[in-house]
Amino acid sequence: MPGMSDWILITGGSRGIGAATARRCAAVGWDVAINYAQDGPAAGALAAELRASGRRALTCRADVADAAQVAAMFTALDAAGGRLAGLVNNAGIVAPAARLDAMTPERWRRLFDVNVIGTLLCCQQAARRMSTARGGAGGAIVNISSRAAEFGSAGIYVDYAATKGAVDTLTRGLARELIAEGIRVNGVRPGVIDTDIHSASGMDAAGAVAGIPIQRLGRPEEIAEAIVWLLGDAASYTVGAMLDVAGGR
Ligand code: NAP
Repeated sequence: MPGMSDWILITGGSRGIGAATARRCAAVGWDVAINYAQDGPAAGALAAELRASGRRALTCRADVADAAQVAAMFTALDAAGGRLAGLVNNAGIVAPAARLDAMTPERWRRLFDVNVIGTLLCCQQAARRMSTARGGAGGAIVNISSRAAEFGSAGIYVDYAATKGAVDTLTRGLARELIAEGIRVNGVRPGVIDTDIHSASGMDAAGAVAGIPIQRLGRPEEIAEAIVWLLGDAASYTVGAMLDVAGGR
């Protein structure tokens, strides 16, 4: 159970899966720090909604790919007072659907910078604060991967899928490295979820339904449930797990 002033920081918390997770975290009693990249009004409106429900809520603009911005975000959270109990590495991007031949190195670098380096940077800052070896009280990290990490997304975005494969490997490694310091690291691999992210790839998410055993898209709230379970004490013996929430896909 959350304690007084236990913060959960959610990267990319202003929309989609991140926003659903922010609402669920607040509902179970955590204070929530909402990171975003561009859309300040969306983050601000969500923070106001969470405050109206009685929780503390912060918004933090930072490109997770930028080490200085990430460091400043964690410093701002320190200044708010209270303990960082959890981090959800949810910020992620896709790119327009393409085959290998049409991809550019710039595209690959941006995908890896946001999805992989961003996760590493935030894990590093969080671990420095949570580690019992550094006087912290422990904590939980949940990395948002994708079922694409296993399927590989041939013909659409093999590069995005590869970033999520890296997130899986990082999750397993960090789980084993950090558990001795009281930090549980786990991951969630969503299937096709009904959010705005698909407009960036130009893919029609509804067109994927036929290939999903449950025969519908997932809702952001269904991913949030898994994330919040992994963050909490109910998952106290769950370390290095990758939880597929994908309607059987
Ligand atoms: P979304 O609706 O596109 O929302 C993305 C969020 O990330 C927004 O809050 C956005 O902020 C933020 N963001 C983007 N780039 C950022 C950056 N460089 N630094 C900080 N924040 C950044 O995405 P979603 O569908 O909820 O996806 C969330 C996560 O789930 C991603 O990691 C994605 O890869 C993964 N996932 C999604 C699906 C799916 O079908 N939706 C499936 C598998 C995995 P702004 O609005 O301010 O730009």
